[in-house]
Amino acid sequence: MQRTTRNILFVSSEAVPFAKTGGLGDVCGALPKILKKLGHDVRLVLPRYWSMSHKAHDLEWEVSPMEVQMGNCILWCGVLKGWIEDVPVYFIEYEKFFGRAGLYDDGYHEFSDNAARFGFFSRACLQLCRSIDFKPDIIHAHDWQTALVAPYLKIWGSDREYFRNTASVFTIHNIGYQGKFPADVYDFLGLGLENFTESKFECHGRIHFMKGAVFYADAITTVSPTHAEEIMTGIGSNGVAQYIERRRKDVFGIINGADYDHWDPDNDPLISQQYSLVHFSGKAFCKETLQREFNLTVDPGIPLIALISRMSYQKGKHLLIPIIEDIVHHMRVQFVILGKGEKHMEDYFGGLPARFPGRIGAWIGYTERKAHVMQAGADFLLMPSLYEPCGLNQIYALRYGTIPIVRDTGGLRDTVIQYNEQDGSGTGFMFHNPTPSAVYNTVGWVVSTYYDRSPHIDAMRKQGMGESFSWVDSALRYEKVYTHALARRKVWA
Ligand code: ADP
Repeated sequence: MQRTTRNILFVSSEAVPFAKTGGLGDVCGALPKILKKLGHDVRLVLPRYWSMSHKAHDLEWEVSPMEVQMGNCILWCGVLKGWIEDVPVYFIEYEKFFGRAGLYDDGYHEFSDNAARFGFFSRACLQLCRSIDFKPDIIHAHDWQTALVAPYLKIWGSDREYFRNTASVFTIHNIGYQGKFPADVYDFLGLGLENFTESKFECHGRIHFMKGAVFYADAITTVSPTHAEEIMTGIGSNGVAQYIERRRKDVFGIINGADYDHWDPDNDPLISQQYSLVHFSGKAFCKETLQREFNLTVDPGIPLIALISRMSYQKGKHLLIPIIEDIVHHMRVQFVILGKGEKHMEDYFGGLPARFPGRIGAWIGYTERKAHVMQAGADFLLMPSLYEPCGLNQIYALRYGTIPIVRDTGGLRDTVIQYNEQDGSGTGFMFHNPTPSAVYNTVGWVVSTYYDRSPHIDAMRKQGMGESFSWVDSALRYEKVYTHALARRKVWA
């Protein structure tokens, strides 16, 4: 059957290798490449952050200046161009909004002008299409940062003719961050006073970006089938379930793929020795390297559990605080912890290595290399998330022969197969309750399996390494969503 190829504009605030704070960056760096390979004309737009140098990223001027009409003013910006493989990437350059360290915050506090910054970015993406004469069939926006793209597409009369055949898709990567802001920015955003209603942008007197996208987008996706159900039924939806439920026919859950160009121990330049399912011995060397790097006792026979995630409640790190010391007192196990976020969590976890030398290692920060070194060297990856739309870390862990220990939620449920103690099958350990005691008991189960049923551990590593979360499968599903969005495309008077 002949497949239809389309013009697709990806609009995101992050994409590897240019900018990343989490899974959003991984996805928007990988999915456009695959859609391009499938024959689509895909282009990506990002803000040009202060951290991106023209020289290091080979950026060239594409448009300068570019006029962007906002609700109550005109702003002038520039556009640079770079590449991710053969995907063109456009960068909106506007010093006042993006010429600062940090994407959304200064490390601890959100920037107070985030609504203006990303509202402007969303408008600029639409203007860019006209400036480079690219007529997208689909504009695919991601999370609150670009949530206003779909509304602008429908609301602004001046754009209507140009985007007559364009449909919008909005993907929710993290429902915990919805983009709620004081309403005084509303005139600048130019969304129309008549639209400041409870069903569209208004939420307790504030403006709510994600609600607007949920109302206006032609299709809505999130990053796993289980999470798609969760966000319509209230569990983990953070208050927007009823609005998403109204769009049920247009809501899809598509599991993320893994970019095995970046995350494969057989081809990973950041780890001390490469290894694969067939040549597995390198993993032991990686464990030793990890133990040395984090000042742990070098011992191949002690189970080593890694945590690689933001220091946030979503990631369930707080569940560990009441029990990690008991675990280390009662079980022969080591921990390595990497993360950045809530100050009190940083202080607590950052202080543990001094109190438990040789047993707990920690690094407070965001370091791509350490994330790879930990995936390769650890025996287990612990993700006690309260909610997890997809989760990429456990998918990477599987490929690294690092067994995930996860809470039964969202994408974790869709990607990890529960260990069966009878026959040793499964790819990970799963628990249900988001409580410290559930985490404690599950770690106990893991440790006893490690010491008492080691053939099961070997079998699980092998089964996990054999799993493949292909981006091609996911991209083919997105193609179907694009077709749906075009067929269901709404026109607003
Ligand atoms: P989320 O997007 O909710 O943060 P995911 O599991 O989907 O969670 O993706 C997390 C991504 O961010 C992974 O690529 C992971 O390696 C990376 N990551 C998370 N924390 C850190 C950190 N402190 N340093 C380096 N990489 C990190």
